Amino acid sequence: LPKQRLLVVANRLPVSAVRRGEDSWALEISVGGLVSALLGVNEFEARWIGWAGVNVPDEIGQRTLTWALAEKRCIPVFLDEEVVHQYYNGYCNNILWPLFHYLGLPQEDRLATTRSFQSQFDAYKKANQMFADVVNEHYQEGDIVWCHDYHLMFLPKCLKEYNSKMKVGWFLHTPFPSSEIHRTLPSRSELLRSVLAADLVGFHTYDYARHFVSACTRILGLEGTPDGVEDQGKLTRVAAFPIGIDSDRFIRALELPQVQDHIKELKERFAGRKVMLGVDRLDMIKGIPQKILAFEKFLEENGDWRDKVVLLQIAVPTRTDVPEYQKLTCQVHEIVGRINGRFGTLTTVPIHHLDRSLDFHALCALYAVTDVALVTSLRDGMNLVSYEFVACQDSKKGVLILSEFAGAAQSLGAGAILVNPWNITEVSASIGYALNMPADEREKRHNHNFMHVTTHTSQEWAETFVSELNDTIVEAQLRI
Ligand code: UDP
Repeated sequence: LPKQRLLVVANRLPVSAVRRGEDSWALEISVGGLVSALLGVNEFEARWIGWAGVNVPDEIGQRTLTWALAEKRCIPVFLDEEVVHQYYNGYCNNILWPLFHYLGLPQEDRLATTRSFQSQFDAYKKANQMFADVVNEHYQEGDIVWCHDYHLMFLPKCLKEYNSKMKVGWFLHTPFPSSEIHRTLPSRSELLRSVLAADLVGFHTYDYARHFVSACTRILGLEGTPDGVEDQGKLTRVAAFPIGIDSDRFIRALELPQVQDHIKELKERFAGRKVMLGVDRLDMIKGIPQKILAFEKFLEENGDWRDKVVLLQIAVPTRTDVPEYQKLTCQVHEIVGRINGRFGTLTTVPIHHLDRSLDFHALCALYAVTDVALVTSLRDGMNLVSYEFVACQDSKKGVLILSEFAGAAQSLGAGAILVNPWNITEVSASIGYALNMPADEREKRHNHNFMHVTTHTSQEWAETFVSELNDTIVEAQLRI
């Protein structure tokens, strides 16, 4: 029997393209969560549709890139620079991202954003239509179309307008905020209605799903049921599908000689000190300044720990052309500098802050030598770093301090120490608690988390979503 085809549509393809000449391209695969999730799924034949991250204005370039990508089962959507500016930088990252994370708009940008809102929303719809055109061109009867994230909320509607029989699912990787937040969005109703055109709508947590359903009932006046949202007899199924990681990939990596060597080096380097770790994109949502201030408070109040603990903070640069993000970088540097000046000695500093990313093996080694991981997101759809840390800790059994505002708090809550990242006193006390935790409690907490992370994998997540989508459609047909 031929496998069912799965068209995975996301803003970015899992491949970055760099142009080498008029008709030659270098492609680099990025193994993000979604890619590893679908690599492990054998029941479907997956194809990717998305933007390759480059502007390709000429026809030769578009044709040759399309060929090159075809080998990787990727199909490009070509967006021009102006659309990218308005749709991606503007509507997606300047409006939806902060709103969905309860951040509000930066004070000085507020009016400018309000004024440019309509043109950015128009570009968003136009871009979504361009994705739909490409999907439609490649669609074959029986295919499943899985749309991803806040960039493509308009896509389900565009697809159903092409073909009402298309099986369409949509999954949101960020939080979905309270309806009180969503209702401030000028395009609030249009966005909800277009998402509702999908057959299945998925979120990381039950709370996000509930927020979405109540936005539909309160803003659109529709009926919310335990299964989803109903509009004139048509049910859109809404449910929670918490994502996971490919835990085996991390566990296997720890066995590699180069990773073992790296682990040994790190252990020697930090001998006699407990290692605390933060790994985040340098984004407002990650609460990095709050985390560092809590660590400062801990050092302030626990003099005996000053030369016995080190915080390694990996801050991966992101959206570096945006002034808000530049400001955050400066702010973090300033705090780190002050604390290192205050508590450092001639030979050691309490905080090692890196503005860079690490490769997969270096990251695994770091996770493995960590005593306490510190995740203080102010809001976070799920937070995979917390899962990856747990996967790498089966010999050390370190402690996870986790923000209650990360989706992961719903699944790792029993094993982690949950904190309100805004409460520096609480986070500081949790650091002390974690550093002093007896081995038997650490082991119990770790086992809890490890069991969860290794049984709720990304492969299982993808399989569950897709089979639920197939079931939803069968049920809908039975209802008619
Ligand atoms: N990551 C990475 N290199 C680094 C630091 C992090 O590849 O130097 C990866 C990390 O392994 C994780 C992802 O970036 O898979 C971050 O995912 P998460 O859900 O924690 O946060 P997001 O960045 O998606 O908001």
